[in-house]
Amino acid sequence: MSQLAACYACEQEKMIETLPPRERVAVDDAWRVAHAMDTALAGWLVLLPRRHVVAVAELTGVEAAGLGVWQVRLSQALHAVTGCAKTYVIAFGEAEGFSHLHFHVVPRMAQLAEGLRGPGVFGLLGRAAEEQVSAAEMNQFAVVLRHHLPGGSDRPSGSCDDDSAVR
Ligand SMILES: [Zn+2]
Repeated sequence: MSQLAACYACEQEKMIETLPPRERVAVDDAWRVAHAMDTALAGWLVLLPRRHVVAVAELTGVEAAGLGVWQVRLSQALHAVTGCAKTYVIAFGEAEGFSHLHFHVVPRMAQLAEGLRGPGVFGLLGRAAEEQVSAAEMNQFAVVLRHHLPGGSDRPSGSCDDDSAVR
């Protein structure tokens, strides 16, 4: 189906075993966690079902149960790693090529500028290349975050060589 071929999330899913840490921060049978692209905010995560789903109403009971667990688990890890005041959890799925259901899990830092609070936080996506968190930084963040997730030290992809940065 051409619709599937155009889906960025499903294209990534086909390469699940070889994805870099930023595209595979964590994964279980139903959900994958990635670092958001084109963002100026380190730690902006995206939680995606592993099959092509475009609406929350399409989720199975198992996926729904995992959704709740992951939203809380990722928020707790972001609190630990970034010191954020809270997390935003948002799902729209309206961008071209990104209708695959995805939940943004965004660390909301205490000092976040007034204009970037609430829906304004999307002003931190789609930033100029020089403002974006680099691929290397996203990979490093992913590896650090894993240490704050259940079973995080034995995830199959990525390295945990930089333990010094974690503890
Ligand atoms: Zn998809």
